[in-house]
Amino acid sequence: MHVIFANHHQQHQPRLEFASGQATDHQEVPARLDRILTALATTDWTVNPVTAQPPAQWLGQIHEADYLRYLADSQSLPDGEVVYPSVWPFQANQLTTNRFALAGQFCFDMFTPIDRNTYSAAIDSARCAWEAAELVRQGQQQVVYSLGRPPGHHAEPGKAGGYCYLNNCAVAAQHLSQFGRVATLDVDFHHGNGTQHIFYTRPDVLTVSIHADPNWKFPYFSGAETEVGAGRGTGFNLNFCLGEGTTDQQYDQVLTSALDRIAEFRPDYLVVSFGADTHVSDPIGGFQLSTEYFTHMAHQIASLELPSVIVQEGGYNTDKLGTNVVAFLHGFNT
Ligand SMILES: [Zn+2]
Repeated sequence: MHVIFANHHQQHQPRLEFASGQATDHQEVPARLDRILTALATTDWTVNPVTAQPPAQWLGQIHEADYLRYLADSQSLPDGEVVYPSVWPFQANQLTTNRFALAGQFCFDMFTPIDRNTYSAAIDSARCAWEAAELVRQGQQQVVYSLGRPPGHHAEPGKAGGYCYLNNCAVAAQHLSQFGRVATLDVDFHHGNGTQHIFYTRPDVLTVSIHADPNWKFPYFSGAETEVGAGRGTGFNLNFCLGEGTTDQQYDQVLTSALDRIAEFRPDYLVVSFGADTHVSDPIGGFQLSTEYFTHMAHQIASLELPSVIVQEGGYNTDKLGTNVVAFLHGFNT
């Protein structure tokens, strides 16, 4: 197993998230990545910090230019200022330059704050995914794990949300799509709305996601099984919705169907969005998956025998996160 990790993530340290008028401690904390690194140190895998400098337009192919400009501009925020949206666009014909309003234009929830350090951490996280994809493309590695934070799969073409700013999975998939057919498989607890949206009209990138029913859990407004792609991409998006208390056995049946569809697509590459928030102990999840099952899940995915990038997404039981990630990666290694 080969690992690329982001080593400048600590400064991205969101403190609070807001729901129904209540502030709670933010779940996406620097200790998440640090605990995973500690667990990786118990293995004999190659663990390297990100070094790649992706070419121009690596983000412009998946994110909108005005959104990227907004994120880059956030680096000039005063030290200590944290931006949350308060007002959201309600008429598409009113363009604004007001910074207070732009916060709502470029972010769809109150869980995803931006300060002057957010952008550089998001770039580092996305660079990990790009470098992992590049190593796989070159054939140097069959499987590379991209360990970055913030996560990415909720990041839309033009909006942050769900703790995500740049869509790391889409970065890897877009890069690989220039060299062959790509399938993405999202096994985070939450629907990968951003990844779905970015590739929704493309027949050359199959997007598959297994997740909590959006009528039950975030991101609510996408993830239904009726969302199958659009235009030339019709039939190339597949969602599987699961309910509260989903067990290892129930999950495995759905995973088998997902993997069958991916095999039928005959991709050249696979990008996996892995979130450990499907674990029974996760504080914001609601499935009952076991640590042992993560190994089995990965083993099933690895049976596709595809050059693969694994991108770290969620997982918020920080104490168990390292163990769960290493358990998952072991399934690729055996
Ligand atoms: Zn998640």
